[in-house]
Amino acid sequence: MDARHDAGTPRTHGPSHTGGGPRSLWADHDRVPELLEATRAYAVRLLAGLGDRPVARTPVRPAPAPLPEAGIGAEGAMEEFARRWEPGFAAGSGRYLGFVTGGVTPAALAGDWLTGTLDQNPTSGLDSLAPDLERETAAWLRDLFGLPPEHEGTFVSGATMSNFAGLAVAREWLGELRGVSPAEEGVAALGPVTVLSGSPHSSVVKSLSMLGLGRSAIRRVGLLPGREAVDVDRLAEELDRLDGAPAIVVANSGTVNTVDYDDLRAVAALREHHPFWLHVDAAFGAFAVLSPEHAHLVAGLGEADSVCVDLHKWLNVPYDSAIHFTRRRDLQARVFQNSAVYLTPVGDDPDFVHLTPENSRRLRALPAWFTLAAYGREGHAEIVRSCVALAAGLGERIAAMPAYRLLAPVRLNVVCFTLAASPTPARIDEVAAAITKSGEAFLTPTVHEGVPALRAAFSNWRTTEADVERVAKILQEVASRP
Ligand SMILES: *Cc1c(COP(=O)(O)O)cnc(C)c1O
Repeated sequence: MDARHDAGTPRTHGPSHTGGGPRSLWADHDRVPELLEATRAYAVRLLAGLGDRPVARTPVRPAPAPLPEAGIGAEGAMEEFARRWEPGFAAGSGRYLGFVTGGVTPAALAGDWLTGTLDQNPTSGLDSLAPDLERETAAWLRDLFGLPPEHEGTFVSGATMSNFAGLAVAREWLGELRGVSPAEEGVAALGPVTVLSGSPHSSVVKSLSMLGLGRSAIRRVGLLPGREAVDVDRLAEELDRLDGAPAIVVANSGTVNTVDYDDLRAVAALREHHPFWLHVDAAFGAFAVLSPEHAHLVAGLGEADSVCVDLHKWLNVPYDSAIHFTRRRDLQARVFQNSAVYLTPVGDDPDFVHLTPENSRRLRALPAWFTLAAYGREGHAEIVRSCVALAAGLGERIAAMPAYRLLAPVRLNVVCFTLAASPTPARIDEVAAAITKSGEAFLTPTVHEGVPALRAAFSNWRTTEADVERVAKILQEVASRP
């Protein structure tokens, strides 16, 4: 047995003498099996009680507690957490339809527990196969989304960081064309940059700030009438106006209000006449590929230079997890390389330390690997098809309620709707708050084409037809209140 295994076996001699750390830590160490058993039982109770808890909470903070001096051991900590914090947590229920929120599949949960248990740092392959598991998972996801082999994937914490990484590689590509390296010389060497997009997600704008390109680098391109999808003719005009200067185009596959899709093939075809980097934000929209009737929405995704997909949304793995794909891993490594004498050189097949914003990080791929291994392409396609059908069902119910009106057809998994009469921001907030207070559902407010509205987004595998009925019922109820 090597030392690592040895550390996991219960100690038989007295605590507190051999190791560093306090007595309470060694006492816990001696009771690891019991502690994990208690944690398991607590987790099982939480999951079994999901349906009985209010879906979301209007937070009331507990009284502040000082930093513990001596500590109360893991069991004491669990009791404190259960008493002070857990009652105020939102339940990961199938009626939580705010933002775009995934659930956690049983296999993903198992993978997540083991991620903490094994505590691997997939930064480099010097000591573990963990990075290879991550490579295998990235290849599976590439296959799942139908991307060509030139696209290589890297795990990041969320779609924001995936958009950030894609735009960072795009920035380096612009430098390559202009004969400079922003990674080496700084963004000032690059000069002004134009980023064109129809309905960019807020995280794209945030990324431009973080990249030193500036939020004002984004130029919003005209949309198709009544749509959130870019008007490709208008995009062509904007590119014409650049007079051959290279640019970045952010195409959107699945907008958050109405899940609209840019025509990726038409956008990509513009590269015949205009030099631009094509980044696609397909945070949750990429999953359309798993539904035969909707796969055409993402046709052309493989032609992108970089692609962003969130995994803690529709793959139903726990936070935090997303993937970034690009066909220019060389430029990615130029941006993110982290040279140190004790690390491997960048080389042709760089370690992850040279490919992502973080250096040390958790083995985020493991929960994704578990859920893909457990349910496969078919199982995950079933989750997508079910969410799409449930969203359509809620859309039909809402369309039939005189109190509400749909603001867009239900294209995939989001229902965007508003009050039929005077949908002021205050009234929408009132309705949203009343829904939250009921404990029956959670929906988030938005504004669509200037109209205050509500969204119900379906991406949790747990959501059922019965949930949709309850959501429809509470919507009906809160609308009929004065
Ligand atoms: C959710 C989302 C993001 C940001 O994702 P995070 O996981 O919150 O970082 C970006 N783009 C789109 C289209 C999204 O739906």
